[in-house]
Parts: sequence; C-alpha cells; structure tokens
Amino acid sequence: MLSHAYIGLGSNLDDPLTHVERALGELDRLPLTRVAGASSCYASRPVGPQDQPDFINAVAHLETRLSPLSLLDQLQALEQRHARVRQRHWGPRTLDLDLLLYDNQCLHHPRLRLPHPELANRAFVVVPLHELAPSLELPGLGALATLPGWQDAGDLRALLP
Ligand code: ADP
Ligand code: MG
Repeated sequence: MLSHAYIGLGSNLDDPLTHVERALGELDRLPLTRVAGASSCYASRPVGPQDQPDFINAVAHLETRLSPLSLLDQLQALEQRHARVRQRHWGPRTLDLDLLLYDNQCLHHPRLRLPHPELANRAFVVVPLHELAPSLELPGLGALATLPGWQDAGDLRALLP
C-alpha cells in the first residue's frame, strides 16, 4: 500500500545546505520510495555558542511502500553514510533524519514513536511542514496550524532557492 510520510532533515555542517540537498536526492533514490515534495530550506541560529554554522532544516514529503520501521532503517543507514564522510573530513555527525509522520499512525515502539515526539514544539519542523501541507491534521495533536512550535517561527529564516 502506498503511504505518505514526512521526514525532517537537519544539518549544521560548515556546508549544511549542500548536505541537506544531497540528502533529499538520496531520499528520492530509496527503494519503493519517491520524494513527492520538499519544503524550502530554513536557517536558524545555533542555540549557545555562535561560532558555528547556522542550522539548516527542511521537510520532505515521501510516497513510500516501505513499512514505518523499514523506512526508519533506511533513514538511519543514510545518517550513517553521512556520518562516515563527516568523520573523515569535517568532524562530528550532524545529519539528522527524523520520521515525523507516517500516514495517520500513532506508534509507541522502542525504536520509533509516531508522530515524532518533538514535532509539535519545533518551529524548524512546523514551519516547513506547513509549507508542504497547510491543512494537515496530526494524529493525537490536532491541526498543524495550532501547535506550540509556531511561537518561535520568527527565529527562522527562509533561504531563497
Ligand atoms: P534527535 O532526537 O536529536 O533526532 P537522534 O536522531 O540521535 O536524536 O535520535 C535517534 C533515536 O530516536 C533512534 O534511536 C530512533 O530509534 C529514535 N526514534 C524514535 N522515534 C523516532 C522518529 N519518529 N524518527 C526518528 N528516530 C526516532
Ligand atoms: Mg533524529
């Protein structure tokens, strides 16, 4: 069965934008999966020390025939591949791929919680998600437009394509 999943991408490498864009291409090449849409990329200043790059975040809409746990396996394998490159050239891992939503499923599995537990509170998730699916209703959380993460939306900066 074809399912709809939303993935949160994040990076704060010294060239994080390239990293996020590469990850979008890799998501599109996952088995039984295609990227049906991607938000703009957003920059946010790091919390704490400012002598590190901005964080770059985006959200991708996937159409997939992978199960939620198979999709998580694939996301973690992609993170590992990026982590290996980073360890060799640039330092610690910073590519984060979170499975935000999978259809209307609520799941409390030891490896996977759906919706993603931090989804509602993070401006860098709710803002790009809203760009892709403004009228989305989240299982157990209600309307996307009413989530607490909007309070910090002013701190985000949309990057021009
Ligand atoms: P962060 O909370 O900053 O994204 P990590 O990416 O290191 O931290 O967390 C990954 C862990 O969270 C993994 O062990 C994974 O099994 C678990 N996890 C639970 N629910 C989810 C989800 N919806 N998406 C991604 N990882 C999840
Ligand atoms: Mg994660």
